[in-house]
Amino acid sequence: MTSNKEEGRGDTVHIATYGCQMNRRDSEIISSMLVGAGYRIVDSAEEARVIVFNTCCVRENAEERVYGRLGQLKSFKELRPGTILAVGGCMAQKDGAAVLKRAPWTDLVFGVHALYALPDLLEKVRAGQGPLVSVPEHPRPMVSQSGFCRREPGVRAWISVMEGCNNFCAYCVVPHVRGPERSKPPELVIEEVRSAVADGYKEVFLLGQNVNSYGADLAPRTGFPKLLELVNEVDGVGRIRFTTSHPKDFSPELVDTIASLDHVCEHVHLPLQAGADRVLESMNRGYTLDEYVSRIEMLRSKVPGVGLTTDIIAGFPGETESDFQRTVCALETIRYDGAYIFKYSTRPGTAASRLDRAVPHETVVRRHAELLELQKTISKEKIGAAVGKEDEVLVEEVSRRDSGLVKGHTRDYRVAVLEGDDSLIGKAIPVRIVGVDKFTLQAEPLQCSAVLTAGS
Ligand code: SF4
Repeated sequence: MTSNKEEGRGDTVHIATYGCQMNRRDSEIISSMLVGAGYRIVDSAEEARVIVFNTCCVRENAEERVYGRLGQLKSFKELRPGTILAVGGCMAQKDGAAVLKRAPWTDLVFGVHALYALPDLLEKVRAGQGPLVSVPEHPRPMVSQSGFCRREPGVRAWISVMEGCNNFCAYCVVPHVRGPERSKPPELVIEEVRSAVADGYKEVFLLGQNVNSYGADLAPRTGFPKLLELVNEVDGVGRIRFTTSHPKDFSPELVDTIASLDHVCEHVHLPLQAGADRVLESMNRGYTLDEYVSRIEMLRSKVPGVGLTTDIIAGFPGETESDFQRTVCALETIRYDGAYIFKYSTRPGTAASRLDRAVPHETVVRRHAELLELQKTISKEKIGAAVGKEDEVLVEEVSRRDSGLVKGHTRDYRVAVLEGDDSLIGKAIPVRIVGVDKFTLQAEPLQCSAVLTAGS
């Protein structure tokens, strides 16, 4: 969960964000709109008159955390009449009025497609028209977000380039709540990148549920590789990253583009989900393990040293022990730098929720733990191999754990620390990796004169 704080005038509002980077960007938009409407952002729910939850519904435990927090705020609200509770985002889109059944003290439920209506909806609640539920089914348009200039502090600017998904993976609720794919026209993306660069951001992170199919709905069609080229040409742009890629749309052209553009970082997050073709088919993923591996080989041959991370689901319905062993084997063979490994979580309304042959809970827990342990070993070995090599760290912040250290990411998206103070924030520093502490690289600048500002 993240929060977004700023001094201002007027009524206080606290925004609590759950879930993915797309939600983090949506919360920046909420924050921009509400500050524009006269609210003052505060860092805790307890000091706010308006509390906004921007929620996630990808896994059941993300929802339970929100309902748990809403439960805690019931008595707080009784003690502070006039406090407004607003629940937005993916869970609100999915549950709609059902949120009011579970937490009747909620004043406003607004779905993802009602995002831009939030200030007006809050005004209606303040005027006594609550509780309100606004969950339009029609997807919100991809408008320019340049005007929503409040961003999380730091060096990284999140930029949504597309929204929605057409893939309907069997376990995933995203297409049901975010709607079909809509791409933001390239000129609007470029306008936002320029504005982020002008505001001093050193890295732009392009976001979409499936960025590889960017532009399929645009006329004339502009593919994702072309979009990367256009962003790469923006004057003063620093690092460029993107997520999420879908293996079935991960094209040779995109690999060549990553290899050739100097601002695009050498890191790809490519969710595998499972190692058995039978399970991949049942998940409706659209590729086999062999096809996936051939894309990885192509990527690694053209972008040497590329950082590779993935998502894995343990215990999808019908996953046998031999299917699971194929996932184990895939992790051992591909050797990712990192992996997000999840226990399968049934999402109502998805195709997988109608499958029988659920894997017993204790088996899911055991497989999840085994995969975590295996990946931990691989990640340790891989990060250990970086010692002695030269790299570049974009400094993002002063380390909270150790005074005298600053923290950032290498181009292949590993966390690194080095000696320094806040004067280094925003600088891309050529370094040598001199050690590893758990999963953090310890780096030393190569030479002071080589310190560059990212984008220069
Ligand atoms: S590609 Fe699959 S997992 Fe990703 S958002 Fe779309 S449906 Fe969900």
